[in-house]
Amino acid sequence: MEIFKSLELEKSKLLHIVKTERVKCLIIGSGPAGFTAAIYTSRANLNPVLYTGLEMGGQLTTTTEVHNYPGYPEGVTGPVMMDDFKKQAERFGADVRFGIASSVDFSGRTHKVIIDESTLIEADAVIIATGATAKYLGIESEIKYSGMGVSACATCDGFFYRGKDVAVVGGGDTAAEEATYLAGLARKVYMIVRRDELRASKIMQEKVFNTKNIQILWEHQTIDLFGENGVEGATLVKKKGTKEEEIIKIPIDGFFLAIGHTPNSAIFKSYLELDPVGYIKTVPGTTKTNVPGVFAAGDVQDPHYRQAVTAAGSGCMAAIDAERYLSELKHILLPVSTVQ
Ligand SMILES: Cc1cc2nc3c(=O)[nH]c(=O)nc-3n(C[C@H](O)[C@H](O)[C@H](O)COP(=O)(O)OP(=O)(O)OC[C@H]3O[C@@H](n4cnc5c(N)ncnc54)[C@H](O)[C@@H]3O)c2cc1C
Repeated sequence: MEIFKSLELEKSKLLHIVKTERVKCLIIGSGPAGFTAAIYTSRANLNPVLYTGLEMGGQLTTTTEVHNYPGYPEGVTGPVMMDDFKKQAERFGADVRFGIASSVDFSGRTHKVIIDESTLIEADAVIIATGATAKYLGIESEIKYSGMGVSACATCDGFFYRGKDVAVVGGGDTAAEEATYLAGLARKVYMIVRRDELRASKIMQEKVFNTKNIQILWEHQTIDLFGENGVEGATLVKKKGTKEEEIIKIPIDGFFLAIGHTPNSAIFKSYLELDPVGYIKTVPGTTKTNVPGVFAAGDVQDPHYRQAVTAAGSGCMAAIDAERYLSELKHILLPVSTVQ
């Protein structure tokens, strides 16, 4: 009993509510997954309300050119593409609003979501499309060279470094995957590894060790990046804090972070099953979470692909899953309302 009580929205959070609204379908997030879900749910007459979060348009608004999204043969900038997504969703009637989901209560059949700590939305179905945020090292030059040689996505940006020299930071599976992917495009790949071993699985380690143009820099940490009009090199410290500590510089054109992502799922963790990293678990082949009527789409539930097109695809799946759930719910509820 105590457990169930603690899962309900705390009274202190409800005290600040100035408005309550009932909606059929609530979408949280305005990246490719959220807007695609909005296009499909509005065309299915579910009158979706979408809250954008702080980053209207999602991660792609932080990049310049997107060349791998189908339908844009000449490429497109991230902000223009996401504005197109928004316009398309609004054309079919999606209600797009600026606001951040601050807490949720998924303990009942009606799902409660508080927006900006002041509006309570009661929704029959909720589609979570809050994305994931790449982890950075926290050095100033990462921001300075963002989009000018610094990237957190080899699949997205590797193409620009064909025949060039790049570095990948990290020692886990993602770093090993990114390094081997980049090795197929770049002339040389440095793997900057903090420890004296890789955390990656044995099979991924073997792939790295057997790739001729990958050089592992063991026990190295990046302290700075340099270059005139973009990244031209990185300054590293070797064996930091030991007698053998040494500063070295490597010439590179691209610097790829592969130290993980943080899925934006913290506010859902009391209700939804998450994997150890925080990705929302969905029933394989669907967007269904462990709570009926709550669906997850895009990067927040995808530790593997994290691409705009896969996010959009799962946004479409979430909309269809939500529509089916709501039509089944209508059948269950109909006899009750008829009696009333
Ligand atoms: C720099 C960069 C370049 C990239 N380039 C490419 C590329 O060229 N091609 C490609 O396919 N992919 C690329 N990607 C990856 C791609 O951007 C992501 O895979 C895609 O955006 C994921 O979409 P999403 O809808 O799941 O989430 P996101 O795009 O991350 O959007 C998440 C949304 O949720 C909102 N949100 C978060 N928390 C809350 C909350 N509490 N309440 C309300 N809203 C919330 C945010 O404001 C945001 O609108 C790139 C990523 C980055 C960072």
